[in-house]
Amino acid sequence: MCVQRTTKQHYYIEIYSEEIKMLRIGCHLSSSKGYLAMGKEAVKIGANTFQFFTRNPRGGKAKPLNVADIESYLAFAAENGIKQILAHAPYTMNACAKDADLREFVYETMCDDLSRLEYFPNGMYNFHPGSHVKQGVEVGIDYIAQMLNRINEKQYKTTVLLETMAGKGTEVGRSFEELASIIEKVEDTSHLGVCLDTCHVFDAGYDIVNDLEGVLEQFDKVLGIERLKAIHLNDSKNELGSHKDRHEKIGEGQIGFSAFEKIVNHPKLRKLPFFLETPNELEGYAKEIETLRKCYHEPI
Ligand code: FE
Ligand code: FE
Ligand code: ZN
Repeated sequence: MCVQRTTKQHYYIEIYSEEIKMLRIGCHLSSSKGYLAMGKEAVKIGANTFQFFTRNPRGGKAKPLNVADIESYLAFAAENGIKQILAHAPYTMNACAKDADLREFVYETMCDDLSRLEYFPNGMYNFHPGSHVKQGVEVGIDYIAQMLNRINEKQYKTTVLLETMAGKGTEVGRSFEELASIIEKVEDTSHLGVCLDTCHVFDAGYDIVNDLEGVLEQFDKVLGIERLKAIHLNDSKNELGSHKDRHEKIGEGQIGFSAFEKIVNHPKLRKLPFFLETPNELEGYAKEIETLRKCYHEPI
């Protein structure tokens, strides 16, 4: 009896200390086999969160909702410590397209995605703000904010995240200021956040390698650090300010491993969920997760 209790207590202590020490990390997974399959895949590679596309990334119809799959996923997630996941909108959706019908299509797609995500506790939905396609950044910002205001009327529970962009072509969101201008035009910002992509901000010209502290200070000044809800962890194939957006494996690009070690351990970032979108198969993701977990340490 006594021995059993001790063992059990010890087990609880282990879980408890694991909770506070645990890096929240996962990667982008294919959603083709459903939620339970993603949950199992995540656990297999040492992840405790994951990201997925809500539908074909190039757009198109989403599969009919499979509530039974969602329910078995939620039970599995609870047992395996997956507390929050991140949905990613198709990257071809342009909320500031020139054509009004296209913009309407984006709005309807996002509403459809968000209504599906109502099943998930602490849900987050990330999207690329869009490309202003030579209409001017101001016009782009207006259209994006208008759409977010319309979405807010639906009162979804999920937090919508604007992703920081590399500034390829006419992408909106290439600077913290551009994202702040969108947010300023949204009336209810209680369900609005930002997802910082390390490759994108580096390509946009923010020197997270030599001045992570300065970049985060700027983020805080312009957007408020509490707006930051998730991090996309990607190295970059190109140099600072290249505006290219080509992801690289962690430690194999221009950002380099030591910057990622600082990022996951930074007191302002360490509790956020981190998502890898590096050019990898599952095995490669498992290795990156293991390496990053190994360098995650107690706050100094
Ligand atoms: Fe993205
Ligand atoms: Fe990203
Ligand atoms: Zn990217």
